[in-house]
Amino acid sequence: MLTNYHTHTTLCDGKNTPAEVAETAYRKGFRVLGFSGHMDPSIHMDWTAYCREISALRDEYAGRMDILLGVELDQFWKGEPVTGAEYVIGSTHFIPLPDGHLGCVDWTWEESDRIRRTFFGGDWYRYAAAYYEAEAQVWEKTRCEILGHFDLVTRFNHEKPSFDEEDPRYLEPAFAALEALAATGAVFEVNCGAYNRNRRRDFYPARPLLKRLRELGAEVCLSSDAHQAELLDGGFADAKEALRACGFDHVVCFRHGADGRLLRAEDGI
Ligand SMILES: [Zn+2]
Ligand SMILES: [Zn+2]
Repeated sequence: MLTNYHTHTTLCDGKNTPAEVAETAYRKGFRVLGFSGHMDPSIHMDWTAYCREISALRDEYAGRMDILLGVELDQFWKGEPVTGAEYVIGSTHFIPLPDGHLGCVDWTWEESDRIRRTFFGGDWYRYAAAYYEAEAQVWEKTRCEILGHFDLVTRFNHEKPSFDEEDPRYLEPAFAALEALAATGAVFEVNCGAYNRNRRRDFYPARPLLKRLRELGAEVCLSSDAHQAELLDGGFADAKEALRACGFDHVVCFRHGADGRLLRAEDGI
């Protein structure tokens, strides 16, 4: 069943309007399309206008494609509450810095490098460990149903290799965060966003982390993190293959039940 829960539009930093995204999803054969506009300290929306627009699309496509009103909520968002979201993708795009500011981990490699040099003694492993210390709290802060791009801190490691993702100095804090979050029962997304833009050789989370999730009995869902309509299903076939290779036989799907509430089900891969 073709579904996606991580979708951006022109209402935040996406390239297509919600109507264009829905039309493309319908044409591609999607059964469920979840919108998840950004609400974070650097990118956020007029929440009321977003809810109005996505709800109208949900009515327009009723009976043809199930549209869900979600949000990608950063744990450091301090603005308007996101009341009315049907599900939350909890994300961490920042490291809290000793000077009280937030350091963005997915802006540019140069910015990541500046943060590492200024605040972590030039040590990429301390930089990554600080990220995972924050990431470990994302469920507590957002009460999310879906854990977004767990290892976003590796964002530039493909273009500009900076740390070894198999080094225990990287893996130990990553596994500690993974284990803390797996215990919450929230679903980890396998996020194809950066993979689709050829910026990573793999998905978030990377395979060693996916294998650990499987050992822990954690559940996963599949998301494209699409910022343009054409990439709504980008990377799904490869991601499913990676999941099977890591021992998974299903993903979690969300959709509306007869009473209008969100149901969580399993779909074989
Ligand atoms: Zn994100
Ligand atoms: Zn996103």
